[in-house]
Amino acid sequence: MTASGNPYQSRARDLAQVFAPRAAEWDRSREYCWPNVADLTDAGLMGMTIPEEYGGQGASFYDTVLVIEEIARVCTLSARIVVEANMGGISAVMAYGTEDQKARCAAEVLAGDKPAICITEPDAGSAATEMQTTAKRQGDRYVLNGTKHWITGGGVSRTHLIFARVLDEQNNDLGIGGFLVICDPVKGDLPEGFEIVRRERTMGLCGMPEAELRFTDLVVEADMVVTPPSGFRRGFADLMNAYNSQRVGAGTIAMGVAAGAQDHATRYLKDRHQFGRPLAEFQGLQWMLADMDAGVHASRLMLHEAAKSRGPNGSRFPDMTMAARAKMFASETAIKVVNDALQMFGARGYGDLEPLERMYRDVRMFTIGGGTAQILRTQVAGHLLDMKTPQTRDGYRDTAPRIAAE
Ligand SMILES: Cc1cc2nc3c(=O)[nH]c(=O)nc-3n(C[C@H](O)[C@H](O)[C@H](O)COP(=O)(O)OP(=O)(O)OC[C@H]3O[C@@H](n4cnc5c(N)ncnc54)[C@H](O)[C@@H]3O)c2cc1C
Repeated sequence: MTASGNPYQSRARDLAQVFAPRAAEWDRSREYCWPNVADLTDAGLMGMTIPEEYGGQGASFYDTVLVIEEIARVCTLSARIVVEANMGGISAVMAYGTEDQKARCAAEVLAGDKPAICITEPDAGSAATEMQTTAKRQGDRYVLNGTKHWITGGGVSRTHLIFARVLDEQNNDLGIGGFLVICDPVKGDLPEGFEIVRRERTMGLCGMPEAELRFTDLVVEADMVVTPPSGFRRGFADLMNAYNSQRVGAGTIAMGVAAGAQDHATRYLKDRHQFGRPLAEFQGLQWMLADMDAGVHASRLMLHEAAKSRGPNGSRFPDMTMAARAKMFASETAIKVVNDALQMFGARGYGDLEPLERMYRDVRMFTIGGGTAQILRTQVAGHLLDMKTPQTRDGYRDTAPRIAAE
């Protein structure tokens, strides 16, 4: 992609040169890339979307996707950190939080924290509104019980936005809210009732912990509840509205990895000779390269469109359908592009002298995490058909004691 003159993008390009030689090490060691986090923080790319009054730079989601692509071309892990430090959980807090919540979360992210967003549960994956984690009101506090799994950053993130079903003191289900817990798991400083149970062993993005978290009578003060604008009853829909930004970010990582793989393939086709000529002279490979280019380019256009869009009613978040369509297309395209690039390298692509095998493992998750390609299709179709879909339900279960009242 040509330079756009965007200052955030230029900073990201410079950092990408620093990150590229380090990327294989995080994959091999399965360690979180703390040095990269420090570099991203120094470069002002952690929390760049946070408004200036809270210490950020008020960058747009479009600025952010330009950064994500540059970083993802060389280091998928660092690109994920950029997404979650600017989109998703932090953007939900900056949109819906109280002044105190915004100030506290902004300070964490600007100091290098990648917030964790805690939605998925063992029995509530795609059907997230079926979550069973409860937050029961007790005076000025809520008491959380439940289990979340596949939580990105579990064990390294300080800021946690935990989605839970809100119960009043009579156990009436009020809907879904976001509960903020800020702690320091790296130093073992966890509140009572907050347990990091285990870390998954993943095929890709190996430096990023994916953890199971258990809450047992975890107390969260009422002033740490992120109350969505239309209250808990439509809380899930409002919180997921903020999550549309993260989907655009995740799709951009996939596209950036694919663009990086295409760069490697282009170089190799010119360098490698077989049958007395460069691979670049074989039409079968030329056509593969052209298809890769078309896929990356189409993904980029959809992602940029989504990043610049806004949902209905003055929403500050990307349009849900554009975000779903872009992530669905970009994630599936990226898997194919990286696979084709690896194929062009022959055996060399399968080994670890080249980054293709790592990129292939890394990119695989993007049709799963943050809404599967199937669920995203359901959302797009729901929009086309003007139907309610599972991911747009409000998450409200009416368990009020009607019979007793009648
Ligand atoms: C690397 C990674 C990081 C993640 N990070 C986070 C995180 O930080 N926070 C968090 O809360 N969650 C996270 N997740 C969880 C992720 O959001 C879920 O994995 C995802 O929502 C799917 O849920 P599931 O895995 O339980 O699959 P399931 O919901 O059990 O689905 C299984 C299969 O059935 C398909 N399917 C399900 N329902 C339908 C339907 N109605 N129509 C058609 N097909 C359907 C799915 O597409 C999928 O192919 C992460 C996951 C991964 C892999």
